[in-house]
Amino acid sequence: MWSPSARFSTLALLAIVAPATIVAALGYVSIRQWEASSELLYREQARDMAAMAAEKVEMMLRHAEDAFLDRLQAILAAPAPPARAVDKLLVHSPLVRRLYLVSRRGELLYPGTWQDGDAAVVGPLIAEAAKGKFERGGKREVVAGHQICLAMIMKRGGEPVLAAFIRDSDALRREILEGTLGALESSTIIAVLDHEGRTVYSRAPIGDAQRVLSVSFRETLPDWRLAIYQASGSAPRLAVRRQVMLLTGAFGVLLVVIVAGIVTTWRLMRRETEMARLKSDFVANVSHDLKTPLSVIRMFGETLEMGRVTDEGRRREYYGVITRESERLSRLIDNVLDFSRIESGRQTYEMTPTSVEPLIRGTLEAFAYPLAQQGFKVEVSVTPDLPEVVMDAEAVGQALANLIDNAIKYSGDERALTLDARVVEGCLAIAVTDRGLGVAPGEHAKIFEKFYRVGQSDTQGRRGSGVGLALVRHIAEAHGGDVTVASTPGEGSRFTLRLPVVPERNA
Ligand code: ADP
Repeated sequence: MWSPSARFSTLALLAIVAPATIVAALGYVSIRQWEASSELLYREQARDMAAMAAEKVEMMLRHAEDAFLDRLQAILAAPAPPARAVDKLLVHSPLVRRLYLVSRRGELLYPGTWQDGDAAVVGPLIAEAAKGKFERGGKREVVAGHQICLAMIMKRGGEPVLAAFIRDSDALRREILEGTLGALESSTIIAVLDHEGRTVYSRAPIGDAQRVLSVSFRETLPDWRLAIYQASGSAPRLAVRRQVMLLTGAFGVLLVVIVAGIVTTWRLMRRETEMARLKSDFVANVSHDLKTPLSVIRMFGETLEMGRVTDEGRRREYYGVITRESERLSRLIDNVLDFSRIESGRQTYEMTPTSVEPLIRGTLEAFAYPLAQQGFKVEVSVTPDLPEVVMDAEAVGQALANLIDNAIKYSGDERALTLDARVVEGCLAIAVTDRGLGVAPGEHAKIFEKFYRVGQSDTQGRRGSGVGLALVRHIAEAHGGDVTVASTPGEGSRFTLRLPVVPERNA
């Protein structure tokens, strides 16, 4: 058969630990999935946003450049273009840094000369592009890197002219990139990188942010890329991790609460089991305790009744035994009754001023026979002129009797009993000292608990119910005092009952 605690442990394991483990395992798996899918979702969203932003930039740029080319076309197609009309157009087109117009034969029509070494850069590009463009006609084309745009325009009379314009990077950043990307509602960092990977524009300082992805622009900004950055600490993985930590913490707290609950329940259960065991021991002990003096009384009573004891001295001795055993019986029954009254809260105390010495000597008197018979060396030392102390004399006498009874019961070969009484720090301290078995330090607190008796080996053969010291403690506390023990196993014990000389009001 399994013990109750083994059954409880198995139940706790099945009912709490197993589900907790399953929940933790499921939680771990779903968190991993959540982590992965949030990362995926974030990347998808970032890609969509980047594509959309890139398209918007290109659209804006194309729109601005188309407008410029349309106006240029209008000027070139006019019958008599006003003087310096192209110059004026350029002034109003900040996106165009420089413009060159080249005829089919390769002559530079506008401006008069090449500027800043453009001839070396733009010239060959125009020559290269011109071949196809003049034949095919066609649309604007952006030559990578240098941000040079080529477009075919018809002059009046249908003569084609190749327009090559160089973009102004400042104006591009200011008017197109900032205007488009700056207005986007998103906390993500968006940056535009040129063909060499340099950051041309970024919506916020990149710092140590990590690049999530980049998408390339199409024909309007070839070789340029739009990149999405993620500020360090704002990665979805980190956000998930924070959530995970929070959840793990909550789960941990829950587990601690559950475990604390189990441990408390288990301890309560153990206490209850222990109490049930002590109670059944108590019943057996009390019955045994009652039976012994009763059988002695009966035996001596019957012997006397038969009239066989003729010797007067022996007869007196037998009467004495009967009286002492019945006194012992009364003490025992008083203990049990008082204990039950205390347990049910019905015990009351009658406080009257009492002289201490007569009480001590009177109580000791009741033990004169066993003390003398067992050869006890008894010493009583009471400080002279002790004041009268307000107490329930009967209860204190009973407490003292219990202490003396124990001193006799738990004595070994060395039989000595000392009783001393004095006033210490406003308390009457009555100490009962023996040189008996002693109590191990670990048991000092427990022996005052109800039903508790120290392990069988020491108490074996010694009658007792385990309520004597509990009663002493209760009586002491009811008087506003206490009872303490100082003891070394094998050397003896000293129990001190302390009662305040001036009792507390509600004592
Ligand atoms: P009991 O009826 O067993 O004597 P008590 O409440 O009076 O119950 O005492 C509790 C336990 O304390 C005893 O079982 C005994 O082991 C221990 N004890 C009490 N007094 C002494 C003492 N003077 N010397 C050694 N052990 C003692």
